[in-house]
Amino acid sequence: METVDLLLIHGAVVTMDAAGHIFLDGAVAVRGSEIVAVGPSGDLAVRFAARETVDCQGCAIIPGLINAHAHVPMSLLRGLVADQQLDVWLFGYMFPVESRFVDPEFVFTGTQLSCAEMIRGGTTTFVDMYYFEEEVARAADMSGMRAICGQTVMRLPTPDAASFDEGLERARVFIEQWHGHERIIPTIAPHAPYTCTDAIYREAAALCRRYGVPLVTHLSETEREVEESRREREVTPIRYAKRVGAFDGKCIAAHCVHATEDDIRLLREHHVGVAPCPSSNLKLASGIAPIRRFIEANLRVGLGTDGPASNDDQDMFTEIHLAALLPKGISGDPTAVPARDALALATSLGARAVHLDHLIGSLEPGKRADIAVVALGRLHSAPRYHYAPDALYSHLVYGARSADVRDVLVDGRFLL
Ligand SMILES: [Zn+2]
Repeated sequence: METVDLLLIHGAVVTMDAAGHIFLDGAVAVRGSEIVAVGPSGDLAVRFAARETVDCQGCAIIPGLINAHAHVPMSLLRGLVADQQLDVWLFGYMFPVESRFVDPEFVFTGTQLSCAEMIRGGTTTFVDMYYFEEEVARAADMSGMRAICGQTVMRLPTPDAASFDEGLERARVFIEQWHGHERIIPTIAPHAPYTCTDAIYREAAALCRRYGVPLVTHLSETEREVEESRREREVTPIRYAKRVGAFDGKCIAAHCVHATEDDIRLLREHHVGVAPCPSSNLKLASGIAPIRRFIEANLRVGLGTDGPASNDDQDMFTEIHLAALLPKGISGDPTAVPARDALALATSLGARAVHLDHLIGSLEPGKRADIAVVALGRLHSAPRYHYAPDALYSHLVYGARSADVRDVLVDGRFLL
């Protein structure tokens, strides 16, 4: 018998692997930070002697959820202002409040709050962009989560840099200090084409290529942004980003709500990770991203919550739910984004969007043990049908809530 550290047993294992394997009475064996086996409980129980065995009867065992776009310290600005469109919300409220109140302590405390909320809801990886990003990295590391942390730069003064040059230097030092960490990937995040210059994107892209880290940015969030870009630069924000080098290395682009067919082709050609944020895009009246088209076009597409000031939570179950429902509502086609695809946006597809699919996103031997155990059959999700193994996707996407998450592991370590 082989020895493992942990055996999660008697759960419905939804692997999210390429073949779509589901084991209704399934188990996952974990050694150290890695998954060593996934399969029927009977098989794994005779093959492995585990130091710890956790009974997952009545639960689904799924890959930890991936939040592909957030500004986690903004949990401290949650509920501050609502019912405004993006430019008024951002320039009229967020930037002035941030310039007055955002400091390292704010960022650290806000990140702790968001990490606790995300872990509670089954999220194991997030992509962030904010200021004093070393404090986001420090709090995320302490929480045990996996994160891509982007130090924000723009042409305007920010809470942590009086000029772009200062911001760039901050980002360089931050990347230098955290580079090589096992769970935290430090990077730079040019805010958006409308707050940046050609030079900012070019220098940020060069820094990302030097360290092999993904560039994080916002693109084509609103129709107005696209119109202004066409007027001032004669191209869409996505084509502009390509022109200034943002796609030369790995890139994660939030929103892309108003991506054109030409944009979608560019995003695919350059393997850009795309992260629509359904709740935030709805609340700020930015629009509804063409998620179905993104999946059809084989883009690296995930889902994000965006910051808690425009959502107002960090609940990936809500985003999955919306990603399944919105495309049906606007297309009149109930098969537009089926439950399995919606769950993939926060797991296997989401891992591709954040360029970490070699490590996370599915429950398979060799991948990191980033796992969420979700209780099924509670008052709001009972009963549970077994007419087909696929029914599980439907239970998870339409029935389950973040509060149903019972256990969460990152790198084989229980965070919940
Ligand atoms: Zn954002």
